[in-house]
This record gives sequence, C-alpha cells and structure tokens, in this order.
Amino acid sequence: MSPLLVANWKMNPRTLARAQTLFASYALKKKPRAGIVVCPPASFLPAMHALRKKKIGLQTIALGGQNIGPATEGAFTGNISPSMLKEFGAGYVIIGHSECRAQGETNELINQKVKTALAANLHVLLCVGEIERVHDGAEFSVIREQIAIALDGVTKSRMKRLTICYEPVWAIGTGNPASAAEAIEVGLFILRTIASVIGKHPRNAVRVLYGGSVNAENARDFLEHDVISGFLVGGESLSGRSLLGILHAITK
Ligand code: PEP
Repeated sequence: MSPLLVANWKMNPRTLARAQTLFASYALKKKPRAGIVVCPPASFLPAMHALRKKKIGLQTIALGGQNIGPATEGAFTGNISPSMLKEFGAGYVIIGHSECRAQGETNELINQKVKTALAANLHVLLCVGEIERVHDGAEFSVIREQIAIALDGVTKSRMKRLTICYEPVWAIGTGNPASAAEAIEVGLFILRTIASVIGKHPRNAVRVLYGGSVNAENARDFLEHDVISGFLVGGESLSGRSLLGILHAITK
C-alpha cells in the first residue's frame, strides 16, 4: 500500500490569506509516491478547492473535512453535512478526533457520523486511541470498544472507504510520539479487530494511519512491517516545508 499523509489543520491558520499561502506551500514538483489529503477548516474549503484547480502542483492533493454532523440536513446548528463538504471538493472526512471526543462526542454519535459519511460516499478517517500511556491492556479495550461501536451497522462493502487513524491522545501535540513498536503493536490489534468485524484479514482493505507528534525525523520508522501505512499530521502540517519533509522521508 502506498502511504497516505493527512494534514489536519484543526482551527488554523487564523486568516484565509494565510490558509491560501499555507496550501500553496504544499505545491509538489512531481507526482508524489504517497496520497496527500488536506483537511482545512470548513470555511476555508471553497477557497482551497479553487486554489487547487488553479495552482500547479496542488492538483493531486485531495481535500477533506475535519468533522460532519450526524445527518444529511436539518436542525443541527453548527454542523456541516457530507454534501456540503463534497460540493467544495472534499472526498474525505475525519471523524472521532480526540479533540471532538473531548468536547463530548460519544462513540454512539461517532457511529451515526460514520454511517452518514459512508452513505454519502465520503472516505472516513476514523480516529481512535487511548487517553493515557498505559501498557496494561486497557489501551486495547478502549480501542476495541471505539471501533466496535463506531462501525456498528456499517456494511462490509462500505468499509472499503474506511481508514483507521491510531492517535494516542497522550502523543497528540505533545512532542512525545508513540514509539514505532507501540504504534505497530496497536496497528496490528486494530487490523485484527477489524478482521473480527468483517470476517477477513483487512491488511489490504482497511488502512491504519498513526497520528501523534509525527515529524520528518521519526515518520519512516513507523512504516516498518507494513502495518502503519501513513500518518495524520497536526502541528507539522502547518508549514509546507515540514509536511513535504515528512512526505520526502516516507517516500525516498
Ligand atoms: C492530530 O491532531 O491529529 C495530530 C496528530 O496532531 P500532532 O501531529 O500535532 O500531534
């Protein structure tokens, strides 16, 4: 599987002009040997979509949303629907990010969002991960429950558009990444958990990404053994130089 690199800008940068400059700084000189998805704040998506059409080097970069509401339309103040994302070129959506879970998103709400997104043909980047760094098995129970509830009622055929992002909360934005061995162990557990849900080994069907303080120096190690096949990147995606550094490190 060729790697996938997802840039999660979160609630950054502060202005549209800076968002345009940041996206332009991703411009590639040649077709990358990895997929790249950029998830800007939803209000910047139309302008990023327009810029991608115009600027050479951005065309192969896909766009995604950072969240959606649980339904396709209606009384959901502050939410955005899959079709609203798709109208401005988004093919992906992050669901269940720990920063959304920390604001009250439950596994059950995440399940509704996953089903809504998949039904609309969006590719789902489902985030899972334990809060504290433990090695007593509790991390696996949390992740098993997050996956089981998030995917409840999702048909096997729709899982083709599913990527699981292993994001240990203690590693996000802390400069303290999981070791490659830790991420690979949990990645294997995630693949086994998905296998028990869909009844076959999903190594080539469902992709597992790692997220949490990834940078150009540490990225490559995570890809050993072909379990982790890409990254969800927060802080280091806020500079084209850093993101392209990760891209270079994982594709050289
Ligand atoms: C994230 O927010 O999903 C993330 C991985 O952030 P960072 O790369 O900054 O740890």
